[in-house]
Amino acid sequence: MNQQFAPKTFEPALHASADTVAVAVAEGDGIGPEIMQATLRVLRAAGARITPVPVQLGRAVYEAGTASGVSPEAWDILRETGVLLKGPITTPQGTGAKSVNVTLRKSLGLFANIRPCTAFAPYVATKHPGMDVVIVRENEEDLYAGIEHRQTDEVYQCLKLVSRPATERIIRYAFEYARAHGRRKVSCFSKDNIMKMTDGLFHRVFEEVAAEYPEIAHDHWIIDIGAARLAADPGRFDVIVTGNLYGDIISDIAAEVAGSVGLGASSNIGENGAMFEAIHGSAPDIAGQGKANPSGLLLAAVQMLEHLGQGDVAATIRNAWLATIEAGIHTADIYKREISCELVSTQGFADAVIARLGREPYALTPARTGAPVTAPTIPQIVRRRPAAKELVGIDVFVHAADVDVDSLADKLLIASRCQPVAVTMISNRGVKVWPQAQVQTLLTDHWRVRFLFTVKANNGLPWQLLHALTLGGVEVIKTEQLYRFDGERGYSLGQGE
Ligand code: NAD
Repeated sequence: MNQQFAPKTFEPALHASADTVAVAVAEGDGIGPEIMQATLRVLRAAGARITPVPVQLGRAVYEAGTASGVSPEAWDILRETGVLLKGPITTPQGTGAKSVNVTLRKSLGLFANIRPCTAFAPYVATKHPGMDVVIVRENEEDLYAGIEHRQTDEVYQCLKLVSRPATERIIRYAFEYARAHGRRKVSCFSKDNIMKMTDGLFHRVFEEVAAEYPEIAHDHWIIDIGAARLAADPGRFDVIVTGNLYGDIISDIAAEVAGSVGLGASSNIGENGAMFEAIHGSAPDIAGQGKANPSGLLLAAVQMLEHLGQGDVAATIRNAWLATIEAGIHTADIYKREISCELVSTQGFADAVIARLGREPYALTPARTGAPVTAPTIPQIVRRRPAAKELVGIDVFVHAADVDVDSLADKLLIASRCQPVAVTMISNRGVKVWPQAQVQTLLTDHWRVRFLFTVKANNGLPWQLLHALTLGGVEVIKTEQLYRFDGERGYSLGQGE
């Protein structure tokens, strides 16, 4: 094994024996080692039936030259254990390094990100004492597909990909989660009034799937007003299912509104693996000072124990944690003179939780002990039959600087004059600017030209057209084929088209 990547040895493995489960443990960067130490101490004291297998992810691996932040040895351990408890990782800025989190979620197929956001009033200050919302976020696609290009001097592009199978799987998972946890309503957040195809698919599939769960109420919110209502009146929400970017943003807001991001835990669930982590980052500003709140990671470990079928230990730890919070024993991030009794360090907080193992909270709702927690079923998706697909045209994206739209149109018409196409539209940043447009928008050097075929198309026609455009001096930077699927238009119209 490459010694550089040799994982550090933690204290003796927890209850290493035939009836423990091996769990990969990455302590992470910044405050990661402190909060992981505190978490593992509580797990050990509570009798968690796990054997931690240390893996190294993040800074040291980046610095050793692996851009993914995950060493080959770590991949082997992750594939073998299938479960990872992960401390926060510092993502290096501007070095070409990829986020470990995004890499792990995608490579291990961890399609669902579950973030419960619960208030612990009056023991943790919050504007919404009754808040109890779970956010189910799609974890693999959307703008996080990581497909970005600079196309011209002035324009950069990030592709938003939304697929029917992934959408159906996350939405079914949200309903299965609601069913398994006795929750009553699932709300969908999307922006389908603007992104009619991608977010439109998300909303449509939500309505289809919701019809199969008549015992669970459902509603849909446009993300902007939904997010505003979530911040102002979270009591109207129960489970929220949404896309990757929206989910990322609203879950941090929801955790903060509930009390503190320092308390937020999340699980990342897939068919062949699961990863559990706090929602906060590596907090370099307080690293090494013993100030960090280990609760986010500890509560993530509680979710991990439930996932592993150790609901008994999970409930014991959660109840001890609730009793500690209720006793006013708080780390600096949630300490308030009016409501807290004792300001403790990271390890001091872990000691207080350990001292309360076996106790239940007096006022906060205790976790159920004894009753097994049923993990939501991972939905199996039945692929649909492929639609009849007909090629009807092509959008050609063109780089042209310092040009007026009529001269550009003339150039395109001349270059394509012998091709079986009609130029139906030129748009700039999505707004139709030719023909007959009131051009008051800012024009950039990035144009989209819509060609519709005037004959029944074959797959060779687009290439023939592109060849003709290139010979005519047009700088093509990208194309998108235009299809009809079972007769339905598979592309959006330009604004004003
Ligand atoms: P951050 O969450 O690390 O810190 C934001 C603020 O919250 C800071 O003031 C910090 O002191 C405080 N804070 C965070 N966790 C706390 C805790 N447990 N106890 C007390 N206070 C806490 O966010 P950031 O500063 O934007 O990011 C720092 C680094 O973490 C970046 O490199 C970022 O990429 C990375 N990050 C990693 C993850 C992850 O690994 N899952 C998530 C988010 C950010």
